[in-house]
Amino acid sequence: MIIVLKLHSTDDEVARVEESVRELGYEPHTIRGEIRTVVACVGDETTHKSPEALETLPEVDSVVPIQKRYKLVSRDYCPDRHRVQVGNTSLGGPAFHVVAGPCSIETYDQTLETAYAVKASGATLFRGGAFKPRTSPYDFQGLGDEALDILARVKTEVGIPAVSEVLRASDIDRMIDVVDVFQIGTRNCLNYSLLEAVGSTGRPVFLKRGMSATVEEWLLAAEYLAKNGSPHIILCERGIRTFEKATRNTLDLSAVAVARLESNLPVFVDPSHAAGRRDLIPQLARAAVAVGADGLMVEVHPNPEEALSDAAQQLTPEMFTALMDEIAPFIQAAGREMAAPTEVSA
Ligand code: PEP
Ligand code: MN
Repeated sequence: MIIVLKLHSTDDEVARVEESVRELGYEPHTIRGEIRTVVACVGDETTHKSPEALETLPEVDSVVPIQKRYKLVSRDYCPDRHRVQVGNTSLGGPAFHVVAGPCSIETYDQTLETAYAVKASGATLFRGGAFKPRTSPYDFQGLGDEALDILARVKTEVGIPAVSEVLRASDIDRMIDVVDVFQIGTRNCLNYSLLEAVGSTGRPVFLKRGMSATVEEWLLAAEYLAKNGSPHIILCERGIRTFEKATRNTLDLSAVAVARLESNLPVFVDPSHAAGRRDLIPQLARAAVAVGADGLMVEVHPNPEEALSDAAQQLTPEMFTALMDEIAPFIQAAGREMAAPTEVSA
């Protein structure tokens, strides 16, 4: 951090600031200008107390952070791209992965049919919500434990690892035997106690970007997971809140590019929740591949019109097959190959 002092500081004022910097555990290096003095704080900002508090000193004009506030997920600190191992496959390498499945697990047959279909079309991970974070308390909240039982049977029968959203730390214990990857949804991206609890499982985590989270906040959420024990994180951009009403959210492709530059984590795109309508999913999926995403998450339902949640955005299995065919040349043009099928982890 750099501490910028107020104009025309006296020697005593500079000395007071230097003393406060030392008290925080940093070594002050002072540069005296004609009218302005600045004090550089040398030390690791991620392990010392934040010098931001120094902004309250009467001698100080402003405090300018220099280091990134995230470390474990940062490419500056750890330049090698992190591969996330799930089952017999690894995400974040040259292979392009697609996670697909219904918004909600509704019945055994619906889940089984979708899992077989998406696997046959090339999805490597199956998604399905057991606990649903719904805007209205009157909307379908997910089948809960019953959905977990269905998911356990289906993933074993079909041979595909499962991703499912965790809403509460108290659900982790019953989910952990079924779920290969914990999903943290957009609404919980900044729920720090949940991030700590999920991180401490050491399991891979699919971290959706908060609908109003900046890229820095999203990466700091990932840092919570890594710091607490799970560096196996897949970031997912799923659209942010803007003034635009034509789509459910606004897919922020710039954030995908930034997240891939700033972090060492795989970055996925969810065109389903971004668009909120199925007719835009192929276009957004192609754009995601072109911008360098490592994979997609797509919602698929055997009868979308009967879906209990997110009906308008779910693809039929036939549409999903067409989508996979359509993105194949883009994946190749991006210098990647479609990932080989996965099997469930033991
Ligand atoms: C979901 O994946 O079904 C979901 C609720 O996603 P998001 O958190 O991105 O809204
Ligand atoms: Mn959904």
